[in-house]
Amino acid sequence: MALIEAQHLHLAYDRREIVRDLSLALPEGRITIIVGANGSGKSTLLRGMSRLLTPKSGGVLLDGRDLHSLRGKELARRLGLLPQSPLAPDGVTVRELVSRGRFPHQGLIPQWTEQDERAVAEALAATRTDALQERLLEELSGGQRQRVWIAMALAQQTEVLLLDEPTTFLDVTHQLEVLDVVRDLNRERGTTVGIVLHDLNLAARYADHLVAVRAGEIHSQGTPAEVITAQMAHEVFALDAHIAPDPVTGSPMVLPRRRDRTPSPHHHEEDPVSTTTDTAALVPALEHSSTLAFELTVAARRPLGPSLVRFTFTSADLEHFGTNSHPLDLRVKLIIPGPQASADHFAPVRPEGHLDPATHAQWYRDWLQIDPADRGWMRTYTVREHRAAGHPGNLSAQPEIDIDVVLHLDPVEQPGQGVAARWARDAQVGDTVSLLGPNRHLVGPDYGGIEFRPGTARTVLLVGDETAVPAVGSILEALPASISGHALLEVPEAGDAQQLLSRSGVQVTWLPREGRPHGELLDAAVRRLMSENNAQAFRDAAADGPADDGRAATHEELEDVDIDETILWETTTGHGAFYAWLAGEAGAIKSLRRHLVSELGLDRKQVSFMGYWRQGRAEH
Ligand SMILES: Cc1cc2nc3c(=O)[nH]c(=O)nc-3n(C[C@H](O)[C@H](O)[C@H](O)COP(=O)(O)OP(=O)(O)OC[C@H]3O[C@@H](n4cnc5c(N)ncnc54)[C@H](O)[C@@H]3O)c2cc1C
Repeated sequence: MALIEAQHLHLAYDRREIVRDLSLALPEGRITIIVGANGSGKSTLLRGMSRLLTPKSGGVLLDGRDLHSLRGKELARRLGLLPQSPLAPDGVTVRELVSRGRFPHQGLIPQWTEQDERAVAEALAATRTDALQERLLEELSGGQRQRVWIAMALAQQTEVLLLDEPTTFLDVTHQLEVLDVVRDLNRERGTTVGIVLHDLNLAARYADHLVAVRAGEIHSQGTPAEVITAQMAHEVFALDAHIAPDPVTGSPMVLPRRRDRTPSPHHHEEDPVSTTTDTAALVPALEHSSTLAFELTVAARRPLGPSLVRFTFTSADLEHFGTNSHPLDLRVKLIIPGPQASADHFAPVRPEGHLDPATHAQWYRDWLQIDPADRGWMRTYTVREHRAAGHPGNLSAQPEIDIDVVLHLDPVEQPGQGVAARWARDAQVGDTVSLLGPNRHLVGPDYGGIEFRPGTARTVLLVGDETAVPAVGSILEALPASISGHALLEVPEAGDAQQLLSRSGVQVTWLPREGRPHGELLDAAVRRLMSENNAQAFRDAAADGPADDGRAATHEELEDVDIDETILWETTTGHGAFYAWLAGEAGAIKSLRRHLVSELGLDRKQVSFMGYWRQGRAEH
């Protein structure tokens, strides 16, 4: 039975019909998410279902009664709506705004009752805004403000709550935070929720019932697994996409390969990928290279401690950068310019570039042949944060990325050694540098730049030295509250410890080296953690996974990896309830590998080992 139901709804602005003969029932006590391309009519539908828009014909029933027959206050006691850009008067405090949610419950002579007080306190607590209650709304960040608006809707205590794009312009952490609050509300109070979202992957994570809208009509509806298909992505979003399980939640995840070259007839946006070539033999890099070279400008530099500096890079080109989801431990290459650069060696893979498909596969080998003083040096880094234009943390008009660089400065400078650290020491705002990273239009499941793949794990162990702190910081920001475990981070000095944000239950331990040998503290901390009864617990958690070849309980003989000749790089997608991710200096990581796998008998299918650098060896 549906509490709220649209029947043969026709909605129009002036004479332009946006929603056509649409019938939709939101299942009671469930979260329904409506998705669709820009201009598909999904927000108009929500406006129609909340009485903000009067239908041309058809109607909406709330608990069997015509929405339009209900008086204003009665409707507001039963149905809450959070519009796309709610406006608050200046100078209103958080508490005042949330208290307004009680207005529909008050009589002709407003009286503040104990019940009102309790409803406001509960709404503040549920949205974790109680500590902000005396603050002015305009002082808050976008994510905090959105939680306050939701608190107001909660204080209204309605059976139905409709939200129009509640996560627009929030960064990923805050998007998840807002949707978690809504999900808790739904699970605890049984509120029937309807949300319009533009992000398909978020919709798949949070929806019980998913509705795809195209050109004002329902294209498909059902569970996320039923609705999210490559065909739907093509027909509704004009997207050529691969569907894979989300590594964090297991819900279906859309991995766009590229925009379809033949846009669906219902899709009004222009295809951003040009298909024209100026030379017959050459093809556009945007369509043919999964890696692009981005010319970045240093927008800001900020020390994070004595050993790490955060660079914020910006560029209009970054519009084409990314993996269409959280970067997690996404690796990219910085190209440190050589002193005698003669040309742009990456011109063919710039977003506006054209490449020769016949020779493209060997571009890296060709690049290595060039004198380093001319071509420069390639160094691997992690994208600490990626902020689109319009993101509240991004004040510029262009997308931004942050990269945190370790300043390991050798007193004796050698050519070609420590070039990235020295560049980071000297670089100033306005300087430019090239970065090789994923082409957002082409990344697919085979894109290997992200290694954190915990699968179904609910307990994680993250181990890293200072070079892995950026990756761990980014991973922690993405982990949901349902994941717990430990992060052990060894850094050169106590001042290098940072505040890392996470909604997860992962406990972060900083291990300042203060002159001790690299990896010593990390080794001791991992051994201590595992000996506190945890190794058995982790093995048990590992054994919870799908049946495997029985290696979990046996102490495996490891083949030796010569870390001076090859890279130590063994990564896996987690099976079972426990997953460990270890990255840093290759010698230290190798010794931890021996301890965890050979001595403690952890299954290698639960653990990813990554030698990020090798003491005494430059990267290339
Ligand atoms: C997937 C991946 C992600 C990474 N992410 C980051 C990141 O986000 N931030 C970051 O700072 N680093 C990161 N690194 C490590 C970084 O690539 C190396 O530290 C790199 O060697 C730095 O280049 P360089 O030119 O400064 O030194 P190189 O010229 O490569 O090395 C010169 C000398 O310095 C030593 N050396 C290199 N790095 C260090 C160090 N950190 N401390 C002490 N000595 C060192 C080498 O052993 C060598 O003897 C990552 C590496 C990988 C593989």
